[in-house]
Amino acid sequence: MFTNLVKAGSRLNKTNNNANASLVYTKRFLNIHEYQAQRMMKGFGIDVPKGNVAETPEEAEKIAEVLGGQDLVIKAQVLAGGRGKGIFTTSKLKGGVHLCSSPTQIKDLATKMLGQTLVTKQTGPEGKIVHQVYIAERHFLRKEMYFAILMDRKAGGPVMVASPEGGMDIEAVARDNPSAIYKEPIDIMTGIRPEQTKRLAEKLGFSPKNIAKAQDQMAKLYQLFLKNDCTLVEINPLAETATGEVMCMDAKLNFDDNAQFRHKEIFDLRDKSQEDAREVKASEYDLNYIGLDGNIGCLVNGAGLAMATMDIIKHYGGNPANFLDVGGGATQKQVTEAIKLISSDPKVKSILVNIFGGIMKCDIIALGIIAAVRELSIKTPLVVRLQGTNVEYAKKIMEESGLRIIAADNLDEAAQKSVRIAEIVALAEQAELDVSFKLPI
Ligand code: GDP
Ligand code: MN
Repeated sequence: MFTNLVKAGSRLNKTNNNANASLVYTKRFLNIHEYQAQRMMKGFGIDVPKGNVAETPEEAEKIAEVLGGQDLVIKAQVLAGGRGKGIFTTSKLKGGVHLCSSPTQIKDLATKMLGQTLVTKQTGPEGKIVHQVYIAERHFLRKEMYFAILMDRKAGGPVMVASPEGGMDIEAVARDNPSAIYKEPIDIMTGIRPEQTKRLAEKLGFSPKNIAKAQDQMAKLYQLFLKNDCTLVEINPLAETATGEVMCMDAKLNFDDNAQFRHKEIFDLRDKSQEDAREVKASEYDLNYIGLDGNIGCLVNGAGLAMATMDIIKHYGGNPANFLDVGGGATQKQVTEAIKLISSDPKVKSILVNIFGGIMKCDIIALGIIAAVRELSIKTPLVVRLQGTNVEYAKKIMEESGLRIIAADNLDEAAQKSVRIAEIVALAEQAELDVSFKLPI
């Protein structure tokens, strides 16, 4: 996916863990599986290969037989792109998409995919588990192109993005050959103009007799985008087949969470098995959580403070393990759950609490922290920087608790301490030392 183009709608880019990445984590855009997307597309008259989804190798084999037995493709269903070039962690099978020529071969590949973890360049090193495989009829592709409709901040509305160089390396095209990417902003009031889709279809290199067909597919994709409150419709590849058809071979659909109330049946498709388990848990308590790759857990309130905290941790040479935003009006219970969640992550070596108590009072936060540390006998050292309403009272409560909570007066001091402690704890663990000694700070 063009992460640079859909930044406004994307989550914090986990592989590019830096403070400049866009942090729009209060928005979640629902992502659905390819087989679900293809069904939805069919309903809009969009041409997709025939196919069906299977959860067992036997089902996969049966579907292959029904589809005609030859010229098939099997595709691992995970909520991440780059499957074609992915790798399965335990079976070591290469590729989450395979062209096949018999039901036996489909069954064999399904056995190697189902229940396994697929790692692609979009999943992160932990990969995603495959619970379903999609079996579809295979087409001979004369040309693979890229087509997407997405919400673009700069254009202030939807934009069609297309490239004749579709297929598996579209990110490389965006990077190395941006002039091969064409854009057409859509006027949301008047809709797509035929000359726009014509221009794109010609630039994509469809053969003359297929221009109108391609235009028709684009217009229908826009209808789907509009009617379902999508933030992204991405077809890669959009293909011209050897038999002269225009087909959407793959699909990625994202939906605007703000429109959830209008699309219950779509939002029921949410597959939590594909999401970060920690993020799912956080959402149960209405907390905004983002898992990152470092070792300092961060509990903050507000997106601005999250960014500042991330910057300052990096400034002092540390790396955040996550961001957990309890928001403006969190309860003591939420703070307790937040601390539990952060400390349950084995990567976390120290926790930095950086809260500005306004609507949410500092003493409430202190009580939440103390409750969590007591309840779970949390060993992870906590550095706490509170500012705002009732801060003195909050400090007193923490001091009197007798727990190992390290208070800091300002953010610099707090960040330095949390970075230092994380380093010490990590070293101590490596040396298999008990880390519950009094830290030399
Ligand atoms: P992705 O890697 O997750 O984007 O998965 P895709 O569904 O896009 O499949 C990866 C690649 O497999 C595509 O770019 C195509 O080159 C190829 N592919 C998928 N389906 C077919 C098919 O029916 N016929 C042929 N020839 N190639 C296909
Ligand atoms: Mn694809």
